[in-house]
Order: sequence, then structure tokens, then C-alpha cells
Amino acid sequence: MPCARCGATRPPAVRWPEGPVCDPCYTAALRHRGTCDGCGQTRRLVHPPGLGATTCADCAGLPVTHRCVDCGIEDKLFEAGRCASCALRRRTTALLAAGTGEVPANLAAVLEAICATPNPYTALNWLRTGAASALLAEMTAGRLPTSHDALDAHPRRAAADYLRTLLVAHQVLPARDEALARAEQRLARRLTDVEPPEHRRVATAYTTWRVLRRLRRRAERSADPRTPTARATHLVHVTIRLLAWLHDRGTTLADLDQHTVDLWLTSGDPSAQDVGDFLDWTAQRGHTRTLSVPIRRRQTGPATSEAERIVLLARLLHDDTAELTDRVAGALLLLYGQQLSRIAALTTSQVIQSHDAVHLQIGTDHIHLPEPLAGLVLRLHDEGRPYIGVGSPSTTGWLFPGLLPGRPITPSQFGQRLRKLGVYAIAGRRAAIIQLAAELPATVLADMISLHPTTAAHWTAQAGGTWHRYAAELARDRNHQP
Ligand SMILES: [Zn+2]
Ligand SMILES: [Zn+2]
Ligand SMILES: [Zn+2]
Repeated sequence: MPCARCGATRPPAVRWPEGPVCDPCYTAALRHRGTCDGCGQTRRLVHPPGLGATTCADCAGLPVTHRCVDCGIEDKLFEAGRCASCALRRRTTALLAAGTGEVPANLAAVLEAICATPNPYTALNWLRTGAASALLAEMTAGRLPTSHDALDAHPRRAAADYLRTLLVAHQVLPARDEALARAEQRLARRLTDVEPPEHRRVATAYTTWRVLRRLRRRAERSADPRTPTARATHLVHVTIRLLAWLHDRGTTLADLDQHTVDLWLTSGDPSAQDVGDFLDWTAQRGHTRTLSVPIRRRQTGPATSEAERIVLLARLLHDDTAELTDRVAGALLLLYGQQLSRIAALTTSQVIQSHDAVHLQIGTDHIHLPEPLAGLVLRLHDEGRPYIGVGSPSTTGWLFPGLLPGRPITPSQFGQRLRKLGVYAIAGRRAAIIQLAAELPATVLADMISLHPTTAAHWTAQAGGTWHRYAAELARDRNHQP
């Protein structure tokens, strides 16, 4: 039997005086709201029957049905007598109160954030089936301590991480540098295998007092929400490989001489030269004599061709089918050579609007954004990014909020998304830098794309720019760390 409202042949959800009504039409009818002709209030319009209804049930003298017992709204009900929003609030309250009848004060913001999920069905689903909400329940019931350590030890890593960011975003747990904490834990585990114990002690001391300390100082100084730990981890790993190699040869650090170091450099380890930092430190501390390791020159890799860069840019700027987030991020990468980590960490306050112009603050520069990029950035700034996770704070300072509550999108997620659009981050960024290097003084280039001044000078020289001596002077004056 066809639906009396839309004519489609679907199993009827309900039989009304006008005939059988299919499920989509039934839901639409229950949600059909507007200004009632009789009382002027915003109500569900039910009379006359059908899409042309103009009056509410009260004014039409009909019984009011499907009305939430908690908030009184006329809506499709989620559970007996209750709309989805009220059901969500009840269930979340029950979860957080854990049988005490009251949500603890420190979790009040978590309750509001979960209830503020734009689509309550998403949050209801998360409560019912989400692994993180199950952990939250364990925590509020007192079976799991409310601490970073307890979450670190939990076997369900992804769920524990989600819950952690949710709790940090609402100040239930103190903020911590996640990347740093992870690197510390990983390295501590890795170091337990080093033999003999004397080498383990030296490697642990190097990791703690040189590598991690440097990382911590960097994290304190930097506004970047993520501390890049790959280099630090790499230095410890190559150190551990050197020590294993020495152990196999029956040599100790105390006996290590230049000839053995030279053998190590030709041992076939692809990162053999990176032990320079370790051997520097051991020499300073008297664990080894002074040894020399040549410094490796960083190589320049392939870049996207200029023609391809323009084609990709045009697509990003004009293709409305691609997601706004990806279009803006890809354009910033291809136009200004920005690293994904820096794009991901952009805040809404870095978008500056004045006198019909839009600027983006990058480093100390205010970059004037041309149209149509300016329009895209403003739209992103005003509309915010869709699909943020359940329990996210209602306002965010990130231009690209991520899935984890209160955190920006990760550079690796960005990289994956852009690759689907044909934008390869490293090659695309190089292409942009080559172009910029021909146009900008190296000092400006260095600041704008956060390059070391000598690296910027190198690019500028390669691009045939005449500015590189300024950078060289700057590098000497400031004595920057690479
Ligand atoms: Zn229908
Ligand atoms: Zn009315
Ligand atoms: Zn309600």
C-alpha cells in the first residue's frame, strides 16, 4: 500500500485517518514545527491533516501526543515519554553520578559538553557503544582511578586516550605534554634491554639528561601543541644500536677509540652518523675519550613541479566538493610552504580581519591572504569544522579542531587527507618554498616557514635569490640551534 503522504511503497509506520504513513513521513510529521495560526506559538502543526497543517493540537482540540515529559517539546520520542535530548541528559547524568544521585562538581562541564553534542543521537550512541564511555563509567563508579597513570596502564589504548583528552579538556585531569609522556614511556621500556648494565646506565643517563631534557625545554618554549619526539627517539635508538654493536665486539665505552668509531660508521647502519650527539655527551661526561663523527648534510628531495603546484592549488581553491578543512590546509601548504604541524596548530586568533582584508599571522609576519583563499579561511573561522568528537568543549581556539576533545587535528591525519586530494605534503611544501625563496629575503622566509636561517639561505641561494647573506649574518648573530 502506498504511503498516504509521499506515495512511496514502503511498510507503513502508522495508520492515520488519511491512510498508511511510511516511517520517514511519520518522523517528518512528528517534527513538523511552525507558528500556530491559532495561538501564535511555535508548536507541532497537526491540523488540517497533511503537509498543509497550520494549527497545533491544542488549538485544533486534538489530544497532544509524542510530547517529552521532561521538557515538554513535541518531537519524535527516543524512549518512553522522553525526547532524545532529555534522554541523553538523563543517561549522561546517571553515568556520571554513578548511583550517588548527583554529578560531582568537577564533572559538571563534562555533562554539559556531552549534552551539547549537536546531534543527540550521536552522543546516545557513543554512551551506549563507545569504548571511552565504558571507561568513563568505570572511572565514575570508582573501579578505575581518575589519573593519567591509570589511563596509561589501560589496555584499551584508543579509548583511554579519548577519555584522557576529554577529561583534560574539562580540567578533570591536569594537562600534560602527551607526546613527551609517550616518548618517555617508550624509551624507558626500550632501555631496559640494554646490556651490560654499565652501558644501560650510560644510555639511560644520556636519554634522561640530554635527550629528554632538551625535548622538555623545547616543549616549554614552544607554542606548538605537539612536541615532535621522532628525532629524540631516533637518537636513543641509534645509541642503543651502537651499544649493542660494541657489546657484540666485546668493547666497552671506556675502551672506545676513533678506529672503532670509524668501523661503526661503515658498519652498514643507515643512521650510524647520528651517534655524534651521544658521543659528544659521553666525551663531556668522561665516559669516553673525545671522538669525531662527521656531520651529515641534509639532502634536498623531490619537489612537486611548478605546473602541478598551480593545478593542485586551483583545484583546492575552486572545488566545492572537497572538504573546506582540506582545501584551506592544502592551499596554505602549497602557497606558503607551511608544515602540516604548523597548519594543524593554527588558532582562530591568527586569522585577522581588517578593512576588507584578511591576514594570517604566521611567526611574526602577517600574510595577506588573496581571494578566494581569504573567503575560505573566513568561512572555516566562522563555521568551524564539522565532526568533532562527543564531549568536546563548545568553543575552541583551534582553526582545525580534531576528533579528540579540545585538541587540534593531527598532522598525520592531515597528511592522509591531503594525499587523497593528490597533495603530497613534503614535495608540495618544497615546491612552495622554491617559489617563495625566489621572492622573499631569506630572513623573512626563515620566519615564515620556521626554517633555520642557514637552511633558508640555502633555499634562497638555490632559487637564485640575492638575499642569502642576510640570513648568514642572522645565523651568526643569533647562533641558533638547528
Ligand atoms: Zn511517506
Ligand atoms: Zn495553537
Ligand atoms: Zn525533552
